[in-house]
Amino acid sequence: MCAVMDRGAIRDGSTFGAVYTCNRCGHIWVTRKADGLPRSCPKCRSVIWNKNCKTVKCLRCGHQWISTKKRPSRCPGCHTARWDVPVSPEPVKVRRPAVVDPDLVERIRDLYYTGMTAVQISVETGLSFQTVYSIVCSLEK
Ligand SMILES: [Zn+2]
Ligand SMILES: [Zn+2]
Repeated sequence: MCAVMDRGAIRDGSTFGAVYTCNRCGHIWVTRKADGLPRSCPKCRSVIWNKNCKTVKCLRCGHQWISTKKRPSRCPGCHTARWDVPVSPEPVKVRRPAVVDPDLVERIRDLYYTGMTAVQISVETGLSFQTVYSIVCSLEK
């Protein structure tokens, strides 16, 4: 976890310094401060330069960010908590032709008139809600 990869004291003229490496930008610098770690990286000004940062990529939306956590809880891009779980390939849906055959329209109409909602018809017929809805809408005109 220690970011200071090479902290061995080096001789810099007559002064001893410590070498620090920024985990964010990779900047290496020498400080003569005797005590304490530098607050921020002199180059990128990151205050988490000494944290074990890593670039994290969301497998859902592709967003990349730098995190100091071992496993960030959420993707800042799409806010999913399952950012490290690849999106499982969608089950291949049988794509119905855009043009719904007249028998089906009739069936939807029948179902609609029995009092079923577009959602129920969609479940019943296996058609997408959008399709059913548009047909239902056209019936109401
Ligand atoms: Zn830096
Ligand atoms: Zn995301």
